[in-house]
Amino acid sequence: MIGLEIHCQLTNLQSKLFCSCKANYREFEPNTNICPVCMGMPGSLPKLNQKAVEKATMIAMALNCKTPQRLGFFRKNYFYPDSPKNFQITQLNMYGPTSIGEQGRVSIEGKEIRIRRIQLEEDPGRLIYEGASEKTQITLVDYNRAGTQLVEIVTEPDFDNPRQVRIFLNILSDLLENLGVSDPSLEGAMRADANVSIEGGLRVEVKNIGSFHDLEKSIHFELIRQQSLTERGIPIAQETRHWDDKRKITISSRSKEEEEDYRYILEGDIPWVILDSQSIEKWKKNMPESISSKKDRYITKYDIPVQVADVLSSDKYYSDLFEQATESNAKEIANMITTDLMGLVDTREKREQSKLTAKHLLDLVEIINNGKVTRSSAKNALQEIVKTGKSVSEIVSQTGLAKISDEGELAKIISEVISQEPTAVQQAKENPQTINYLVGKVMQKTKGTADPTLTLKILKEKIST
Ligand SMILES: [Zn+2]
Repeated sequence: MIGLEIHCQLTNLQSKLFCSCKANYREFEPNTNICPVCMGMPGSLPKLNQKAVEKATMIAMALNCKTPQRLGFFRKNYFYPDSPKNFQITQLNMYGPTSIGEQGRVSIEGKEIRIRRIQLEEDPGRLIYEGASEKTQITLVDYNRAGTQLVEIVTEPDFDNPRQVRIFLNILSDLLENLGVSDPSLEGAMRADANVSIEGGLRVEVKNIGSFHDLEKSIHFELIRQQSLTERGIPIAQETRHWDDKRKITISSRSKEEEEDYRYILEGDIPWVILDSQSIEKWKKNMPESISSKKDRYITKYDIPVQVADVLSSDKYYSDLFEQATESNAKEIANMITTDLMGLVDTREKREQSKLTAKHLLDLVEIINNGKVTRSSAKNALQEIVKTGKSVSEIVSQTGLAKISDEGELAKIISEVISQEPTAVQQAKENPQTINYLVGKVMQKTKGTADPTLTLKILKEKIST
């Protein structure tokens, strides 16, 4: 049985959870994005960021959770250098359900994963170990992140294997991005711990996992470790283990805190927040269309194949681009995005640098349909557009991408190919299917601008004579 605790930052907010310091701490020199509130100075008072409540509630609703009638905040006491306050403001369902959400569910490949609880809390500061090892003598602390908003999502132990965990995290990451509450591609924006147990054994928590890739590996390692102990009759201890990124194993960590060690108390400086049904309704209305609803709409309205609709709807960048360009030729545009464009803008950096707009896609599909360029030329043009942002007409006239449909001109090029490829010609005579090799050669010679239908026709004629 595998359960997850996932921490997601609400990266798109202006200010921190309880003060007016910037939520986007990544832009600042260390320890410059701080104030008496997030540093917990005596006499300072927290003020709850209403937008954070709104966005976190949207996540809860998107994960089919129940939302409470009132929100409460608690102090979780602990002594560690990442928090100068010596406590973290978080949520706890001590007096009934008072955290952002509970009892949600997400379905992955027909399997239901239950969400136990979602809570809103503050992120602590960052500890930076000089030399990137915890054994180092020097630890630096940066409080810029302290007090920014985190949404913690706790699942029931409903996962059967690491693969389901990966699918779930991908779905969650797409969902957060689609809601516009977080940019999961930012470093540290989504972090996950796992608890793993096998039949008859106690629960082991695995922490300190740097990436989703490592999370999958650490779960896999834990399952094998626990199975091997059980086979040898050694009982599995309930403990916290840390993931050792270098050795790719989990190791026992002695500093296990129990819930009662945290001495939770109600945060008296933040009053109960009453969530009336009007606010909830308003937020529900403001929520962007869900990924599954987008997918259904693309299939029924535009007649787009299921797999293409899946790719388009689950990636906010692609679906935004698609929606802006769907005035006409939706099917061709969907195709262009999911085949030709994908490799050109597959990372956050490439997307930020890309000069491509929806208008470019519209224009490109139009000139393919008009027969002015071939699909393969359009793909070349796309590369140029992403790099330079030049208009489609400019690129076609400057780079000679216009389709060669002149029979005489094409026949000349084909004759050249035939004289250069005597073996392939002989083969094509014996086995007509191999003629595609020669079509490919013509395409290569013309940089993809030859009209493919005409090329095939002329080739066939020339070979048969
Ligand atoms: Zn502050």
